[in-house]
This record gives sequence, C-alpha cells and structure tokens, in this order.
Amino acid sequence: MTLFTVGPVEMDAETRQLGGQALPYFRTAEFSNKVLELEANLKALLGTAASSKVALLTASGTAGMEAAVMNVFTDKDRVIVVNGGGFGARFSEMLAVQGVPYTELKLAFGEVLTAAHFDAFEGGGYTGLLVNLHETTTGQLYPIELISRFAKSAGLTLVVDAISTFLADPYYMDEWGIDVSIVSSHKGLALPPAISAVVVNEKTWLERVRRAAPPCLYFRLADYFDNIRRGQTPYTPAVGVLLQMHQRLLRLRETGLPALLDRVGGLAEDFRRRLRGLPNFRLPDYPLSNALTPVICLNQNAQEVFRRALAEASLVLTPAGGEMADFLLRVGHLGELQSADNERLIQFLDSFATS
Ligand SMILES: *Cc1c(COP(=O)(O)O)cnc(C)c1O
Repeated sequence: MTLFTVGPVEMDAETRQLGGQALPYFRTAEFSNKVLELEANLKALLGTAASSKVALLTASGTAGMEAAVMNVFTDKDRVIVVNGGGFGARFSEMLAVQGVPYTELKLAFGEVLTAAHFDAFEGGGYTGLLVNLHETTTGQLYPIELISRFAKSAGLTLVVDAISTFLADPYYMDEWGIDVSIVSSHKGLALPPAISAVVVNEKTWLERVRRAAPPCLYFRLADYFDNIRRGQTPYTPAVGVLLQMHQRLLRLRETGLPALLDRVGGLAEDFRRRLRGLPNFRLPDYPLSNALTPVICLNQNAQEVFRRALAEASLVLTPAGGEMADFLLRVGHLGELQSADNERLIQFLDSFATS
C-alpha cells in the first residue's frame, strides 16, 4: 500500500522503528530535556524567535485550530475568516460556537485569492484574520505576502493554520508577521496523528493569550506555556509521538529545511509534469502547495478512480468531499514517497483512462 494522502502519510524507517519501542515514564529530567530540544527545533523550523511560546496538545489538528480561536479571540473581536473550502468553513463554525463575531471572505471553487478581495474589508473595524494558508480541501495555497501586508496595515492579529503547508512550502512565521501558527504531527512531519502545536509570538501572548479565559480547562494555552518552561505538559501527552517528533525534528535540523522542501517540491513538480501528458485529467489554475496536487477528473469519475487505484494497484489517493467528490482527487507528496511511486500512479491513471 502506498499513501498519496495528506495525513497520515508514509513514515520513514527511523520513525516507525521508534514507534515500536516501549514507552518511558515522562515526568523525568530525561524526557523534559527532549521536549525542550523539540521546542527549540520546532521554533527554528517555523522561523520564529525563542521568545515565542509553544503549546503541545495531544489532539488532532482541529483541536489546535480551536485552541487558537478560544485563546486568542473573544466576543469583543471582529474576525475575518478566509473560507475557500472545508477547513476555512471549520474556522467559521468554531468562531460561531465561541460567540466571536466574524465575517467570511468567501471563495468559490477555483477562485484565486487576490488583493481585491481584501479591499471590501478595509476600514471595517476588524481585529483578527484567520486563514488556512494551504486550504487542503482544494489544494489552493494562498498568497502569504498579500495576506501579511493586509493584516499589518489593518493592525490585525494574524492566525495561520499552517498544518498542511509547514514542511512542504517555505514558512517564515516572524518575517511574515504571523502571530499564531498551528501545526500537526501527521502532515509534513510524517508522524502518527496525536500532537498539534499552537505557537504564539510574544506580543500575542502578552496582549491576548495571557488574559484569555477560555470556557474549558484542557485547551487553556497559558497552562501549556507554563509547563513547557520545564519541558513538560500539564496532562499526559502522547509520549511516543513526542519522542518520534523530537527525533524527526533533530534529523530535519541536520539535513536542513531546504533539502526537505526541495524533496517535496521535486516530487510535486515531477508528478505534475507527468500528469500533463494524460488527456482525461487536468490541473487547476490556482496556486498550489507542494503538499498535494489536486487532479480534476474530466470524466467526472473521481470516486471510481479512487476505488480502483486502491483495489487494483494498492495506491491510496485522497478523495474530495461534497460537491467536489465526482470531479476532484488529491494526490499527496508528503512523507517517504519516491519518484518511482509517482511513475506507478501515472501508469495506473494512464491505463485507467484507456480501459
Ligand atoms: C489536516 C488539516 C487539519 C486538521 O485536521 P484533523 O483531522 O483534525 O487533524 C486542519 N487544517 C488543515 C489545513 C489541514 O490540512
């Protein structure tokens, strides 16, 4: 079975080997030192200062999104949500649940986010902006320079769900003026699902999160920030996945981020070049992340392609949901995939189209 998914993705041998080990107890100096090292490496890879704060939540990425919403915004805010797909819609639902006033910047499928979209929000009294930088449901990568410029000029607190763009595309949290970043273990990090990190810069900690009173205990970020100073979490974490994350980040620091981005970008480019030769499939026109390629099935047979790729070739593609289910498939490039895997998938798609 080969996973062309966006998460979980193919894990490397070291990660899998570590996953088979017995778990240590975690309230120890040895474990704390690993968490502190993990925290420093994560900040370095995100491009944020040592003064930023990291919360390691044992929860899926959605919990990271919700923790950010609950600890950064209140009913006194007015938040803009970029909603160009399922994950943007999820942020809106969270704001509604939390009673935070918000307005959607809504994009139809295939609509490219441009400066003109932000003009309508100019001078509207907004205080925050929420965006899934790579909207994984469609594969559109939004233009961070533009988002960042708008947020800065309007004085907005910028919260970025970077879950599927981190370690696939360049990401410079501080340089881009991003106040809060959310990442997860099972996407670019290629680890099992379990850990989500919410990373908050010092300014947003001091001005917002420190004073937050979210209506729950488990997602109170201040408690996580307090505990991580000694390399700990307030509650029992996914110990094994934290150890895998510690090791994986160490290795990424050694090989360097550019090498990893080159690898993922190279796989994406290789797949797209091969796909352009197939008559029944097309790439969309909007900007794409290296994390995945959205494939438009001109014969409206996306669900059949997904089923048969799995049954006949053990290739696991990522189906699309809702209105896109018949015409869109997604092909992931994260994790331990090789160019030979792309070749096998293209061969399958080619034979499928002519059978
Ligand atoms: C995967 C993903 C999430 C998190 O989804 P979970 O199923 O809760 O882990 C959030 N945002 C984006 C953009 C994602 O790709």
